[in-house]
Amino acid sequence: MTNPWKRLIGLAVAGFIAACSPQSSGPKLFVMDCGSLTLKDVAGFGLTNDDTPVRTLFVPCYLLQHKGKTMLWEAGLPLAIVGAGKVDIESLPGAYLEYEVSLVDQLAEIGLTPAEVDYIALSHLHFDHIGAANLFAGSTWFVQRSEHEVAFGEKANPAFVPDYYAALETAKTQILDGDHDVFGDGKVKLISAPGHTPGHMALLLDMKKTGKLLLSGDLYHFQMSRQLKSVPVFNHDAEDTREAMEKVEALLAETGATLWIEHDMELARTLKKAPNFYQ
Ligand SMILES: [Zn+2]
Repeated sequence: MTNPWKRLIGLAVAGFIAACSPQSSGPKLFVMDCGSLTLKDVAGFGLTNDDTPVRTLFVPCYLLQHKGKTMLWEAGLPLAIVGAGKVDIESLPGAYLEYEVSLVDQLAEIGLTPAEVDYIALSHLHFDHIGAANLFAGSTWFVQRSEHEVAFGEKANPAFVPDYYAALETAKTQILDGDHDVFGDGKVKLISAPGHTPGHMALLLDMKKTGKLLLSGDLYHFQMSRQLKSVPVFNHDAEDTREAMEKVEALLAETGATLWIEHDMELARTLKKAPNFYQ
């Protein structure tokens, strides 16, 4: 009763499923430790020092793999401070930075060089999100028009340090005007959430095992920022920030996504770090 056609069809179906599986398996997310920022007080974040005992912020970088492509989300603290111990922030008395293992070395552990990363997206262009950005000038950069407009030249936002991302000026750039579905399948979505900076973004992921996950950017810095809806005094626009909070909270309710506040050190301590990953 052996039917060679049945066998051939069976093999063809198995081959088709195997060929499709990398695409249907959904995004992989690697979490990397790109330093920390310790503050003396939290008044600048619209909180009092009694509102939260937290003084140290985690500084993450993330690498996504999906459909055979890679995307960096956040580029961490400046690489110049790697291995330098506690580095004071001159403009913030009592505050310091630490960064032990560079993003480049952490990427190497998962078998990648910056030149091999296809896409880069940054929640915004503050110094703790762009530290290694210049190494990704060969990637395609996803950026909101409003962030790009204040990134370069004479109009540059005074809170930005263009030296750290100057090389992106000549990168292949995809200018965005709102939310963007990076791979066209709804699995990796850049969410426009302006206010912290003009073109601030969050990132919504839909993963096979982990489920839906929203990475906050700097919409919130602390758990207490979310509870109190506190707006940092250094935000570009307080009203836009509050609208972005409403938009993201509605999105969380609608999708059932888990929220990761990126700077939340207590959360970060519990996360798997690269070369381990979420999928
Ligand atoms: Zn930040």
